[in-house]
Amino acid sequence: MQKESLLDPGSTIGIIGGGQLGRMLAIAARQMDYKTIVLDPDAGCPAGQVADGQIVDDYASRGAARDLARVVDVVTYEFENVDADSVSAAAELKPVHPSTTVLRTAQHRLHEKNALLKAGIPVAPFRPVESHEDLRDAASDLGYPMVLKTSTMGYDGKGQIIITRAEDTENAYELLGHNNAELIVEQFVPFTMEISAICARTAAGETATFPVSENIHRNHILDTSIVPARIPDDIADSARQLAADIAGHLNVVGLIAVEMFVTKENEILVNELAPRPHNSGHYTMDGCDTSQFEQLVRVLAGMPITEPRLHAPTVMVNLLGEVWEDTGGYPDWARALEMPGVSLHLYGKAEPRTGRKMGHINVVADTIEDALYIATEARNRAWRRSPDL
Ligand code: AMP
Repeated sequence: MQKESLLDPGSTIGIIGGGQLGRMLAIAARQMDYKTIVLDPDAGCPAGQVADGQIVDDYASRGAARDLARVVDVVTYEFENVDADSVSAAAELKPVHPSTTVLRTAQHRLHEKNALLKAGIPVAPFRPVESHEDLRDAASDLGYPMVLKTSTMGYDGKGQIIITRAEDTENAYELLGHNNAELIVEQFVPFTMEISAICARTAAGETATFPVSENIHRNHILDTSIVPARIPDDIADSARQLAADIAGHLNVVGLIAVEMFVTKENEILVNELAPRPHNSGHYTMDGCDTSQFEQLVRVLAGMPITEPRLHAPTVMVNLLGEVWEDTGGYPDWARALEMPGVSLHLYGKAEPRTGRKMGHINVVADTIEDALYIATEARNRAWRRSPDL
């Protein structure tokens, strides 16, 4: 790997993956006159539309990752299911952040949970599952309900099943364990809230953590983020500290998004890590003085990071493909933008599909209630729905 150095504006950041996270990263980079080149197989991908260049190739191709590394100064990736071997290939030529070690850990739920356990981070009790027998044995330790998950390639609730009784273990194992998929089973956490905290960490080990977001999911997909999360300040501080601790333990250079459960006893359990910008951090684009994307650009460039400050309560609502499907492809943006303080972010995706993340709305307001009302109403207007539907 090459020597780390301070990259001045005008330098080029390589991004593996061309989705919305890469797009918003490229926009933040351009604001500071950093250039970006994206590697993605889709020539019209969201990030490619705004980057300075694109290599149209498979992100599992080592040759393409090397081609990218050759023409940039530093490399990052915008989703964690990218092929780790091709990221390693890029790392032979240029610095890659976060490292492939961090990527490999975050790509594999069991490795991730083991790493967290080793670091003394609280997680729900879990067991590795290699056979139906393992699953039954785990049930006697963990009790029901349990959540069976594939160790790799799961996202947005895909690749997981809640098991509520002994009779269902065999079926659940059959459903997820075919093709010898590696599995993990966790105790079901009867959480009262899901939250996340995103920490940026520099190569020198400085950290800066964003305010905690309260996340509401619908059909396993993030629907709404509310910031600050409606939890006591000391719990929010602990959540941010956990994120910074994890960043330190894993030696993350870049961003790490930490998804957590809060229980009714106000205990925090870490559920999942993502070593990249995160949907629950999109609120930072309008709600904070430094966005998650700007913070990542700064880390990649070796520039200083500072503790991000929240301007005022902020709510983000996701715009999924349904908003386009239900309006014949023409959501009513004009009516949505009549609402005060609405900031509309669209990702330039040509094909709306149910559940596909197409954009989001951020609203910064005097109170959480106002921000929630305006954001939800704006989305409903675009969707031409009355609020009570
Ligand atoms: P994940 O793919 O691990 O992020 O899980 C997706 C969603 O499933 C989470 O946001 C939770 O709502 C739910 N979930 C995952 N693991 C558990 C668990 N151990 N207990 C309760 N709910 C869970």
